[in-house]
This record gives sequence, C-alpha cells and structure tokens, in this order.
Amino acid sequence: MDNILGLTLAELSALLERKELSSRELIAFYIDRIERFDGKLLAYLYKDAESALKRAEQIDDRRAKGEKLPRSAGLPCALKDLIVTSDMPTTCASKMLEGFISPFDATAAKNMREAGYISLGKLNMDQYAMGSSGESSYFQKTVNPWDYSRVPGGSSSGSASAVAARLTPVAISSDTGGSIRQPAGFCGVTGLKPTYGRVSRFGVVSYASSLDQLGPITNSVEDAAFVMDVLGLNDPMDSTSAPSKTDFYANLQRAGDSLKGVRLGLPEGHLSDLAPGLKAAVENALKDCEKLGAEIVNVDFPLAAKGLPVYQMIANAEAASNLAKYDGVKYGHRANIAELEEMYSITRREGFGPEVKKRIILGTYILLEGQYEEYYRRAMRIRRLIRKDYDAAFKKCDLIVGPVSAGVAFRFGDKTISAMEMYLNDLFTVLLNLNGSCGITVPCGFGEDNLPVGLQFQGDMFAEDALLRAAHIYQQSTDWHKRIPALLENGVER
Ligand code: GLN
Repeated sequence: MDNILGLTLAELSALLERKELSSRELIAFYIDRIERFDGKLLAYLYKDAESALKRAEQIDDRRAKGEKLPRSAGLPCALKDLIVTSDMPTTCASKMLEGFISPFDATAAKNMREAGYISLGKLNMDQYAMGSSGESSYFQKTVNPWDYSRVPGGSSSGSASAVAARLTPVAISSDTGGSIRQPAGFCGVTGLKPTYGRVSRFGVVSYASSLDQLGPITNSVEDAAFVMDVLGLNDPMDSTSAPSKTDFYANLQRAGDSLKGVRLGLPEGHLSDLAPGLKAAVENALKDCEKLGAEIVNVDFPLAAKGLPVYQMIANAEAASNLAKYDGVKYGHRANIAELEEMYSITRREGFGPEVKKRIILGTYILLEGQYEEYYRRAMRIRRLIRKDYDAAFKKCDLIVGPVSAGVAFRFGDKTISAMEMYLNDLFTVLLNLNGSCGITVPCGFGEDNLPVGLQFQGDMFAEDALLRAAHIYQQSTDWHKRIPALLENGVER
C-alpha cells in the first residue's frame, strides 16, 4: 500500500478504474495516515472519516455495477477551511465562524464532489486568510512536516502541510497575495494560483475580492493539471468566472521534455538579498532550466517596490468592506448583549483575532472620505501601471521565473521576525495577484537547515497551459517533488 504515495492522481484513477484498488481502500489509507500523524501536524480543522468511507463505498458499488464514472471518482481531496460546505463546518479558522455550517456548497466544493472526489476534511489556515505563517488561526498552529519547530507558511498552512505529509494528495486552497505559492515553497510541494476568474469564487469566504483566487496544492504539476480540469468550469454564480476549460491535463500530456524556445524572464534584483542556501537552490534550478533548452532573459519591474504597499492598501480596504457583514445578526458568533450597537461592537471584538482587526482598522481608514483619494485611488492607479510592467515583461519573455520567498520556513515565534518582515515575506508573490495572471511554485531543492526551497514561475493572463508545461518539464527532470518528510508517530520517525 505504501507505494500509493508515489502515484499520481491519474495513476490512482487508473487503478480504481481497473478495480485493482478500491476507493474504500484508498480513503482508508489516507484516514489512517491522518490518524497517525495529524495529532502533531495539526493540519486538519475538521475531519469526517465515517462520511468519507461511506462515500467511497458508494462509489465502489456503482463501479462494481458497471456504471460509467468520472475519472476522478473515488479520489481523496481536502479543502481549505474558507470554501463553504453544507456537510462540514466552515470556520475560516476564526472564532467568528466557529461551528458555522453553510446552507449551500461553494461551486468548487460542488464541482469536486460531482467529479467524484471525496473530501477528507477541512484544512487549517491563517484566520480569514490573513497571514504568512498560519499562526493567526484561532484554533491551532499547523507545523511544517520537514521541521516541527518551523511554520508551514500561510495562509494555506494546513493545505501545504497536509499535502507535504501526504495526509491528502490534493488540497484546494486560495491565494490572495501568495497564500498558495509561499506555503507550497516552505513545505516542498507544488502550488498553482490560476488566473483571476479561472476558478469560481462562489461560496469562498472573501478576503480581498479583486485578488482572491482558488487553486490546487498537490505533489506534482501533473496532479495540479488533473484537478484543474474540474476546478476550471465556468460558473454563472460568479460574474468574474471565465469560460470553462477542461483540457489542462490533456495538454500537459503533449508537453514533451524540452524547454527549447521558452524564454524565462528573471526580474532584476530577484536574486539579491536571498538566504544563501535558498539562493543556491534557485540558481541551480535556473541552470537546470537552461540545460533543458530555456533561455533566461532579464526583465525589469520598475514598480516592484510599490507592490507591497499597493497590495496592503487594496487588500485591507477590500477586507474591511467584506468583513463588515460579520455583525452577529445573520450568522456566526453573537455576543450575548441586548443593546444593538453594543452587540455589534462586542461581537466583532470577540469574534475577530488581532491580525484581522488590524487589517479592518487599516482598511477602514484607507476608505475614509478624505483618505480615499490619497490611498485607495492612488493604489489602484499604481496597480494599473504594474499591469503595464507585466505586459512589457511578457513581450520579452514567455514566463517569469524566480524565488517565491527570500528565505526558508522560519521558526515559530521567531523574535527576529517583525510584523513588517512578515509582510515582506510576500514580496515575491503579491505582484502577480495585482496583475491577476497565473503562477506556480514547484520544489527545487533544499536550502538552510535542509528545508525545502520553491521555484516560482509566473505566466500571462489565462496562460496556464504554457505555465504548467514549463513547470512540468522542469519538474520531470528533478526528483524534489518525490521527497517525503519523515513524520513523527509516538515519538518515532516514520
Ligand atoms: N500573506 C499574505 C497576507 O497576509 C497573503 C495572504 C493570502 O494570499 N491570502 O495578506
């Protein structure tokens, strides 16, 4: 059974189809791993082994009767806890939504279920997806499977940790400013942020609506493409949803094994100020890409330094407005107070964690009459110019390449990391969200203290095929994605 961990989703699907493996066996295998290892990793906020096994049995029965099932029928998955589900709670890792059960399913959850994926549970995250370490979760701190004293990254802390530890082969996560790509880098897994609009946001608890995007965290680019065929469906419930695209995986099968003719743009300055071990891994990866035939060209982002402040302005302004709905009236936590105004205010004081409050206050300030022009409008203008920089860069190259973070996963409670430095962590990821196009992190080696390093590829709007192709060809030439961290079970490494 242990060789299950070395198989792609497509290979698992073939085993299920040929009835050489039952879905029940596969789901039970993952449930067993969750039971053995999640007590220490704390990646899951909610798990429902019984329902998952029952669904697996139903799928096995239907297959036994000769019914034609979708190719992903019976495969396991897990969801970041901001994708609403009617059969499991959705908390956004907050006290505000503790125990909240949605009356409907998010489109992504529905599409996954209809394609036959079986959800093992909901994954921990930074509260309301605000953070870069997972530490702002109200409930628990997920650890990095490569070193339990380190953060897994954020905000998709549970997703990246669970996929790295093989407690699920795929996690559906979200990326507003890097939350898929940065934790994927810290945990040595593959994380795809699709183009804005590619995956429906209907039923995804919003952080910053003009930046939020769902995507998969997996153990390979191939698996990411496999899942995208299900996530990439058009959704009339989301007005920003793009037309359906379901041939990601088929296109990847024709990728070949050469990067000849692919121009990879390396942004000016992206290799300075990196941790030396991480830098060496990224440089080696770039050399590998050249050996595969790619040409590395220099590209310039004159406004790169403005990326973070612009992201902070826009994300916080949108967050303040999105989170205004949590007032204790319609759903979520309600303070036990009769007077209305006071009930609103105490509900919010009790329900939101410090990071969330900080961002609401900042965002509210930015949107105040008198401040709005100075901050929000200006940020929107610079955002447009950043998009022009991207357009100019994509005239000189096909994809942009570089590090996803400046260092490897840091230690919990690291006193040397200030709030400002924590925000600086998003330096290499936020520009892409401001542009709206797609990007992917793939593991490219190990850096300081033998911790994983991620390589980031960025593509143009709706250029997922080209992005996945290059990342896949690079990945096929390495075995970094096949390394599995040793996990602790009763104090013994497994
Ligand atoms: N780390 C970033 C932030 O704290 C990004 C979060 C995200 O992508 N959801 O805002």
